[in-house]
Amino acid sequence: MAVADTSENLQKCICMSCPSYPRGADPILYCARGESPKHIEQVRCTCPGCPVWHENDLSGLYFCVNGKAP
Ligand code: SF4
Ligand code: SF4
Repeated sequence: MAVADTSENLQKCICMSCPSYPRGADPILYCARGESPKHIEQVRCTCPGCPVWHENDLSGLYFCVNGKAP
């Protein structure tokens, strides 16, 4: 099931502390909202440390590049 774009999930998203996160205003919660409009340097993806990743049984990484979780 698709990840819900809710304020609860937004608060749990840890993208902003990820080394690959593009600084500046960016939508985060990429697993629900889709990829970033910015260029992402893929340093590391910290999604497996995020509660949303576990709660939704996700397995993918780099949603900021690859788009929404299926
Ligand atoms: S799984 Fe990744 S993109 Fe989705 S809420 Fe967590 S940190 Fe953000
Ligand atoms: S989706 Fe993964 S790589 Fe992209 S900013 Fe979030 S934690 Fe980092």
